[in-house]
Amino acid sequence: MKKYLSAVMIATLAIACSPKEEETTVDYTTLSDAERLEVAKKIAHETIMVDGHVDLPYRMKVGGFTIQREILDVSVRTDGGDFDFPRTKEGGLDAPFMSIYIPAGLQSIPGASKALADSLIMMTERLTTTFPDKFAMAYSPADIEANFEKGIISLPLGMENGSGLEDDIANVEYFYKRGIRYITLTHGTDNLIGDASYDTTSTYGGLSEFGEQVVTEMNRVGIMVDLSHVSDNTFRDALSVSKAPIIASHSSVRKFTPGFERNMSDELIQAMAKNGGVMMINFGGSFIDSAYATGTAKVREHLVNYMVENNMSRTDSAFEAYAAEYVASNNPFPTVQRVADHIDHVKDLVGVEYIGLGSDFDGVGDSLPTGLKDVSMYPNLIAELLKRGYTREEIEKICYKNVFRVWKDVEDYAASQK
Ligand SMILES: [Zn+2]
Repeated sequence: MKKYLSAVMIATLAIACSPKEEETTVDYTTLSDAERLEVAKKIAHETIMVDGHVDLPYRMKVGGFTIQREILDVSVRTDGGDFDFPRTKEGGLDAPFMSIYIPAGLQSIPGASKALADSLIMMTERLTTTFPDKFAMAYSPADIEANFEKGIISLPLGMENGSGLEDDIANVEYFYKRGIRYITLTHGTDNLIGDASYDTTSTYGGLSEFGEQVVTEMNRVGIMVDLSHVSDNTFRDALSVSKAPIIASHSSVRKFTPGFERNMSDELIQAMAKNGGVMMINFGGSFIDSAYATGTAKVREHLVNYMVENNMSRTDSAFEAYAAEYVASNNPFPTVQRVADHIDHVKDLVGVEYIGLGSDFDGVGDSLPTGLKDVSMYPNLIAELLKRGYTREEIEKICYKNVFRVWKDVEDYAASQK
């Protein structure tokens, strides 16, 4: 006969109670790692989890998803990539924003960016019509809640690069009607809307005049303004123009990656919080630790030297085997703890109300941290947050409540303009 309930049983029982009761009864920090992981898995499955940025549509495009021949079929477990239905279910992910990603290289070809956006949207829609018991479109927090109740994965749409609007302000409303619910104003280079973080040209010194119109029109129709990828000046300009809270769909904290403008400085994080927005933390190795970027360059250099010294080519099986092992044991992959460090930093600086998750899965190659390699692994991050004393309520805010708050504010503002 058991003399006492194990800690994990107590924690599990407590979860069945209301969050208020639970917070007074459970100290997750006292559990063992294994017990905490079980609690984390339960929370991941009971809580709606939104991810601000998953690059599946572009991966499907490259992998050739078609209705006749499903070359890349993500309804079943896939060999490569970070996302598929079984792993999404394992990880407790419910609403990954599908990135309608438009490469900056298309910006010089009139019409090409809009055409690609349309085709990626259609491809995502086709996924939901092909597997209606697994995936569904979602155009609002209410849609996500309804799909969650049915156990169906929601696929909300975010357009990564405002170049898809071409030079026509009417396309903002067009893409709202096509289901786009956020637009990342720029991608890798400056576009008609404004300056990008990776581009040093500084075409406008921030947001362009057209960009100001775009932000105002996005507010009017109810599309969230996404400030990942923009330059600091564009970020500040867009914040001052936007009448509704903004998001950063996949950006991390610059403090851990000095000089990397793609991440957010403390000043921008504070400005974002003042605006009531949310920053969704990117998991990519070079986003969460600058030591990764320098370390991985050294690994590459060693491998090139090894190849030359041993008279091998990149495709030799002996070289491939050596490289795989060398990378696995020498690449300085960050860990899930490092991602939690970013969350801690934002929480300490402005509060837990402004944090979300924006993994960039299927978009950052194999740079992902140990313990967060694909969509099945969110519970590892939740377990780490529990270990650091985060409450269930705080974790729910990070998983979906914060981004839902922003999204609803954006919906409300648009409704007030009708
Ligand atoms: Zn991106």
